[in-house]
Amino acid sequence: MRAGHALVLFSGGQDSTTCLVWALEHFALVETVGFDYGQRHHVEMQARVQVLDALRAQFPVWGGRLGQDHVIDLSVLGRISDTALTRDVAIQMDAAGLPNTFVPGRNLLFFQLAAALGYRRGLHTLVGGMCETDYSGYPDCRDDTIKALQVAVSLGMGQHFTFETPLMWCDKAQTWELAHALGGQPLVDLVIERTHTCYLGERGVRHAWGYGCGNCPACALRQAGYERWREQLA
Ligand code: ZN
Repeated sequence: MRAGHALVLFSGGQDSTTCLVWALEHFALVETVGFDYGQRHHVEMQARVQVLDALRAQFPVWGGRLGQDHVIDLSVLGRISDTALTRDVAIQMDAAGLPNTFVPGRNLLFFQLAAALGYRRGLHTLVGGMCETDYSGYPDCRDDTIKALQVAVSLGMGQHFTFETPLMWCDKAQTWELAHALGGQPLVDLVIERTHTCYLGERGVRHAWGYGCGNCPACALRQAGYERWREQLA
């Protein structure tokens, strides 16, 4: 019997969807939280709802463990940052070698707000899809950052929290592999059809790995990971 409750930081993308299913396998009740921070396209927020609906419809055992979904308005983040995710500018690298899709410290804020929500709802395990292995250089995705934040949040709230990051040491091929291990081809198909990764919010073209422009850094990672995973299967 699964015990414990968890709160998953859920964006509607491939990584957080895989983490959500991982949590549904490990915990008796799983709630989700998403952050609306003025993304250039609202496609991500729509994908969240579609993934949750599809999980409930196609995987009733997991659906039975799915609790409330929360959306927190973080439009303030769009006003204090100038990035390709929140404004209509081209994706490029900045002087520090980071793509301008980077909202500085975004995951720090996300975890703190999720912890405040979790504190109120008695959810002391937070699950996030951060990954150090195959990422775009974001310092707030690093394992040390998340561990330090877990300590700071636990101390600052007087409540011990556990921050779980099941994808931290997975590359993108292993993320596809994990989805397959958790839910077989039906879950892989759900990830392909329902989740959204593309930075440009493009959903016009259906590739083997899902919808996207096929050119932005997020599409490139998703495509390369899918192709590596398929090659390993063959
Ligand atoms: Zn794209």
